[in-house]
Amino acid sequence: MTDSLFLQLPENRPSVSEDQAKTFLSAEYGISADLTPLPSERDQNFRVTTTGGEPYILKITSSAEDLGQLEAENEAMALLAVPSTGVEVPMPVASIAGNFVTEILVGKDRFPTRLLSYVEGSVMSDVSITPNLRHSLGRMLGSIDIALSTHRHHATQRDFYWDLRHGAEVATRYLAEVPGARHRSLVEFFLDGYATHVLPALPMLRRGVIHHDANDHNVIVRDDEEGQRAIGIIDFGDMVYSCVIFELAVGCAYAILSSDDPITDAASVVSGYNDVFPLDELELDVLYYLIAMRLCMSVTIAAHQTLEEPGNDYLATTQSQGWQTLERLRKCSPSTARKTFRSAAGITDEGQTASELVDDRAQRLGLSLRISYDKPLKIVRGAAQYLYDDSGRAYLDAVNNVPHVGHCHPRVVAAAQRQMALLNTNTRYLHDSIVRYVKRLTDTLPDPLNVCFLVNSGSEANDLALRLARAHTGSRDVIVVDGAYHGNLSTLIDISPYKFDGAGGSGTPPHVHKVTMPDPYRGTHRGYSTETGRAYAEEVSNVLEGHSDKVGPVAAFVVESLLGCGGQIVLPDGYLTAAFKHVRAAGGVCIADEVQVGFGRVGTHFWGFETQGVVPDIVTLGKPIGNGHPLAAVITTPEIAASFDTGMEYFNTFGGNPVSCEIGLAVLEVVQEEGLQENARVVGEYLMAGLRDLMTAHQLIGDVRGAGLFVGVELVRDHDTLEPAAQEASLVVEGMKDSGVLMSTDGPLRNVLKIKPPMVFNQSNAARLVETLDRVLREVVS
Ligand code: PMP
Repeated sequence: MTDSLFLQLPENRPSVSEDQAKTFLSAEYGISADLTPLPSERDQNFRVTTTGGEPYILKITSSAEDLGQLEAENEAMALLAVPSTGVEVPMPVASIAGNFVTEILVGKDRFPTRLLSYVEGSVMSDVSITPNLRHSLGRMLGSIDIALSTHRHHATQRDFYWDLRHGAEVATRYLAEVPGARHRSLVEFFLDGYATHVLPALPMLRRGVIHHDANDHNVIVRDDEEGQRAIGIIDFGDMVYSCVIFELAVGCAYAILSSDDPITDAASVVSGYNDVFPLDELELDVLYYLIAMRLCMSVTIAAHQTLEEPGNDYLATTQSQGWQTLERLRKCSPSTARKTFRSAAGITDEGQTASELVDDRAQRLGLSLRISYDKPLKIVRGAAQYLYDDSGRAYLDAVNNVPHVGHCHPRVVAAAQRQMALLNTNTRYLHDSIVRYVKRLTDTLPDPLNVCFLVNSGSEANDLALRLARAHTGSRDVIVVDGAYHGNLSTLIDISPYKFDGAGGSGTPPHVHKVTMPDPYRGTHRGYSTETGRAYAEEVSNVLEGHSDKVGPVAAFVVESLLGCGGQIVLPDGYLTAAFKHVRAAGGVCIADEVQVGFGRVGTHFWGFETQGVVPDIVTLGKPIGNGHPLAAVITTPEIAASFDTGMEYFNTFGGNPVSCEIGLAVLEVVQEEGLQENARVVGEYLMAGLRDLMTAHQLIGDVRGAGLFVGVELVRDHDTLEPAAQEASLVVEGMKDSGVLMSTDGPLRNVLKIKPPMVFNQSNAARLVETLDRVLREVVS
């Protein structure tokens, strides 16, 4: 939102005298009439009563108003005026010259003017509001939005300060002008909820043209046999192309102004709306915070304008009721509100409860599948860096690196949907997407890493990497780093000490050779210097020498560019340079497993191996590559790829299908366009600085390390013995979850807190993580 948005506040508001207006009416419309001024925020309005007793409204607009907007309003009124909508609206009356928009000249100013027909009835602010009236209001708003869904006018696509899309920015901007700390903290509470629940959902909300100002002065009510009913709407000045649900949010906000039970009363409006224009679940999930945000906008803008224009009574009209309603909304639980709105819209089926699912899983799924947390989470929705459980509670996701560009990123979702509806086949047909994608992907890697195989998982990628290495070298043996995990296939359990040395494992297979984890914190050599790196790499050389006597050169050295399961370990300088040199000298190839750390996560570079200044022979990619879609890749040199072309076809049914490729492309584009690598660098530095600050207050923190948004916090009971604090680490993870922040533990001693959030994680998320961790660590220690 640009600053110009805020200049839309009353600028050059018309000030036409009653006499001038009368003269104008008679000259332009041939009408002689009595005039009564009516209140308005931006316009100047008169109620017109002709000498024959016929009522009209004379609407004089600010000279700054866009004429296109008036044209769009007139078209909207025409769309709604047809009897089938059941909605009564004012209609512009043609002047003698046949114009629907005329102009009053006052001095040098020209004010666009319309004479509108009068909608008979009372305004809602003048009647006592019953459940039936609220229900009829909902129905009317639904009918309006259906009718306006066919409205096309460029002027509706505007940046408008009352648009709820800008709610948080507007309320934040004027927050300081709100008198009273209690009121300010009330707005802050809703700003927080808006940031967590609404902002990430905005791109997914249905769009359309909406009236966007069903406030109680604009809704026309009439009495019939069923009592008071909303029958019409006036003032289209806030009409805009935006999220359709905002219409209902505004309607609800004003329909609960005097309500003792705002959620139940808002639910009547929701039910009416849903009867004619069914709502979707996401819209119902965000409605509570939208209603509150509209009221926050109203009270903060009013606070600002009261300072600017102390005399304007209209501004103050809803201010005190607004605060009262916000206080009442604050007392309702957002998750109860969500449930009430869902049930008002006829949605009752929430699936099975978490505990039912636990029981059924135990019957129907292999017990070796584990669930996180003492009390497992049932997650039903994700958006950006947030996950939402079945009660609507939001969790800040600091652990899932698969949804790299954010959970359910709309660009990625759209790419998948588009291609899924068009074609999904395999690599035996020519297709643009796969070639476009692998070109784009390999462009991010240094030469000679130019040949790509697309597969379905990190495990498949590592398995294929082993095949390539073995085909190229004619050898079978593999060197791996202790503590490493490379995948769930048989071939990869064999090269994953994390598994074969862990529970249920059967030890190191004969063809596999472990080297010590190059751990700068608790390893045999400490620190990040090149000496440390070389000292660890010596082990690779020792293995190669001792080994080559027996069975000849190894096929491959497989290593993660930063160690994930090993405990978020950043390699000491020069480690890969020296280790790769030894491996190559012995005829082996070097495989960098980038499944966890690739795609800009480390901040300074796009690929983790680049931080070590090396070029591997084979690189494997997975997890973040498809933002959650099963996609992975192996990238190698033309030479190694040629060795693999033995005459045996390599076919992978799903690998490289057009849907996966379109998704992969969308991910690369979003990483670049949203500057996520740089975000990881900046936010990661900020996060690590905050975590290091905690070390003075918390003895339990032994080490804070990482690169970009790949961070580890190692907990120890003693800074000299480095006795691991595994139990404490798991209590911390549980405590963080109870406070709404998700992370996990890892490392061979299970004492490392693992932080690797979606790359859209921002500075305020990082601050929240640090604050929460500070509190949870205190609780765990006591
Ligand atoms: N390599 C590494 C470094 C991993 O962390 C993982 C998964 N945790 C894999 C490979 C295997 O990937 P997938 O689960 O997609 O098969």
